Amino acid sequence: MSDAVLRLSGVEKVYKKGMPGEVHVLRGADLTVRRGEVVALVAPSGAGKSTLLHIAGLLDSADAGVVEIGGEEMQNRSDRRRTAVRRDNLGFVYQFHHLLPEFTALENITLPQLANGTPRDAAEARAKDLLASVGIADRASHRPAAMSGGEQQRVAFCRAMANAPQLLLADEPTGNLDPATSDRVFGALMRLVRDTGLSAVIATHNLELAERMDRCLRLEDGHLTTA
Ligand code: ADP
Repeated sequence: MSDAVLRLSGVEKVYKKGMPGEVHVLRGADLTVRRGEVVALVAPSGAGKSTLLHIAGLLDSADAGVVEIGGEEMQNRSDRRRTAVRRDNLGFVYQFHHLLPEFTALENITLPQLANGTPRDAAEARAKDLLASVGIADRASHRPAAMSGGEQQRVAFCRAMANAPQLLLADEPTGNLDPATSDRVFGALMRLVRDTGLSAVIATHNLELAERMDRCLRLEDGHLTTA
């Protein structure tokens, strides 16, 4: 069995196909992420990193190429199967946390587990462990508005990990934070990823953060190359 958690091969993506203003974003993008590997995706704004992460995360479809999650080819699967694979295998973190404002930190991490059938006691225990592992156990009963930007983003990491995914996809996860906070919050994310043996693809503009990952890839002209 392959130990590739994610494999993209020859992925093409064109927006507004055949229309004026057609944008050919991905032109044969290839990427293999192995179990436990953390890959940095470095690209200027507009290069297509969100597009690539959405395709890898089964939130959008490629126009051509292969997308495999855990060895399963996903391109021609039903929406239902794609949703199940996404729910069971993938975690997402965005630049803005997208936490539910009317729920506490603990509830934001518990809810996705309840939706996945985890009993409430177990879900709450896991949410508390996750919050402790990123150093904010004492913020469990706070709503997002009562937390700093760095704390909100830590909660978003915990939520992404709530259902124990195999692969984390993160789009500029610390891009909205000041440099010192970004550094600390990124450290918390990396510890969480390493402790759980998770694989991750993390898009960032920050070359110092990129160097702390296992491998750094650049997205340029629709291709991925080793940076
Ligand atoms: P990045 O995340 O690297 O900033 P994106 O993947 O968001 O880049 O976008 C890549 C290119 O595709 C940009 O030129 C963007 O304007 C274009 N694009 C993204 N989404 C759409 C869409 N839904 N329709 C048309 N063009 C799009």
